[in-house]
Amino acid sequence: LSEWDELAFDNRFTHELPADPETANQTRQVHNACYSRVTPKRVAAPELIAHSPELASQLGIPDALIRSDQFAQVFGGNLVHPAMDPFAMCYGGHQFGNWAGQLGDGRAINLTECIDRNGVHQTLQLKGAGPTPYSRFADGLAVLRSSVREFLCSEAMHHLGVPTTRALSLVLTGDWVTRDMFYDGNPQQEPGAIVCRVAPSFVRLGNFQLFASREEEQTLRQLADFTIRNDFSHLGEPSPEVYAEWFAEICQRTAELMVHWMRVGFVHGVMNTDNLSVLGLTIDYGPYGWLEDYDPNWTPNTTDAQGRRYRYGNQPQIAQWNLAQFGGALLPLVDQRVESLQTGLSHYVQTFEEGWNAMMAAKLGLDRFRGEDDLALFGDLLQVLQLAETDMTLFYRELAKVPCESEVDAVCDSLSDAYYKPEEVTDEVREQTQNWFDRYRARVRSADISDANRRERMDRINPLYVLRNYLAQLAIDRSEQGDHAGITELLDVLRDPYREQPGCERFAEKRPEWARHRAGCSMLSCSS
Ligand code: AMP
Ligand code: MG
Ligand code: MG
Repeated sequence: LSEWDELAFDNRFTHELPADPETANQTRQVHNACYSRVTPKRVAAPELIAHSPELASQLGIPDALIRSDQFAQVFGGNLVHPAMDPFAMCYGGHQFGNWAGQLGDGRAINLTECIDRNGVHQTLQLKGAGPTPYSRFADGLAVLRSSVREFLCSEAMHHLGVPTTRALSLVLTGDWVTRDMFYDGNPQQEPGAIVCRVAPSFVRLGNFQLFASREEEQTLRQLADFTIRNDFSHLGEPSPEVYAEWFAEICQRTAELMVHWMRVGFVHGVMNTDNLSVLGLTIDYGPYGWLEDYDPNWTPNTTDAQGRRYRYGNQPQIAQWNLAQFGGALLPLVDQRVESLQTGLSHYVQTFEEGWNAMMAAKLGLDRFRGEDDLALFGDLLQVLQLAETDMTLFYRELAKVPCESEVDAVCDSLSDAYYKPEEVTDEVREQTQNWFDRYRARVRSADISDANRRERMDRINPLYVLRNYLAQLAIDRSEQGDHAGITELLDVLRDPYREQPGCERFAEKRPEWARHRAGCSMLSCSS
């Protein structure tokens, strides 16, 4: 294991006592502790089927090591390097609006921490490496389809410029995992897999909530202080004022994250407070999805289909609700002064509004947000996008190509690639779209923006390639048949999402009709 010492291990959580293999992983309620030491489960035949070369190099992992059998053994959970000290974290959360008590890392095991080439602390975490004290009724495992989805989306989001946890590796375990509620409600055997996720911290809003709910104030304070000192050290030493500033910064980062999700059309699907990162990263890729036709009411999660709590258009409000719950948990740290946290929540609203306006202006290639008239222009566009089923991603890329320097009186024809059902583009739709476009053109002209300049700016913020739900499913289908190349092919395209890549046209197409109602291509269950 000597080559592993190239990794700059630096475990900040290390305990003196080793995990007791007899009891360490047993399901239980854990009190007055932020984490429990655990041992990953042994797997039959770990095989590396995909990895992120740029993340590996950021972590200082040499290529030869990645290709070695040892790498698959370590990232499949069979081998623990002496410098690693695996643990699972204890947290709670509000699920679908209800307090759920202790949840915790039920199938995530923090393997180790190391310092990357940029001098940043990174935690390497295995997802699906077996039961922990927090597994409750479940097996601690993950199946191939959900692991492919997590692996691809983590990296795709990073390349889109959206804050996210990363994915280093995808290992097939060689074991079979039983899952039900997928196609027909009957239990089914699926291949098991493990993703190694990487982030400076995997701490969630729910970590703090659990301690507050149990009135474990000392542990609450310990974790808050640890997080401030390690991940928010620019705020200075913890004090009631610093806790309030820390909360405001988390509000700000979360608002910025919501603007990004709305910009690229990402729908998380399970925005429970245990799935919101204290660093403002996208975390826990479960039944997420990407908007195809622009529909603010769309949710990818079948469990959410009734209430649509986590639908695309609701995400900014839900994040705010989650932050309010989190703020409640911090009251003991700010001497119960609600006002000091209210500032943070107001900051959320302001950051989101400003961010949204600037983002919409940028998506349309405008110079900047200019106030009321622009607001109306944006609002009306979002109405126009719903007149006929319109692919959001393609719409902005096509709009960027429509000239504003000359008269265009059939804009719908220029946008035809974005429409799912041409028959829906009636004369009335054409007229309303044209009216909107004429106002847009006037706005562009008043700012004296050339067509070339506008297109260049729009293409920098409106991706051409996103992880369309059906594309992920096609890669999964192949992988389940033993052909894993589709995962790497897709990642190669998603690595450069804003630049048109010759020969990659099929990755930029709107969802084909066969995929409209196919399992895995539209909505997903939580089973993973
Ligand atoms: P999620 O909805 O994916 O955020 O999961 C909610 C809780 O269930 C978290 O504490 C997860 O760790 C846990 N969990 C989800 N799937 C499993 C599994 N297969 N085994 C153990 N725990 C799980
Ligand atoms: Mg989760
Ligand atoms: Mg999950």
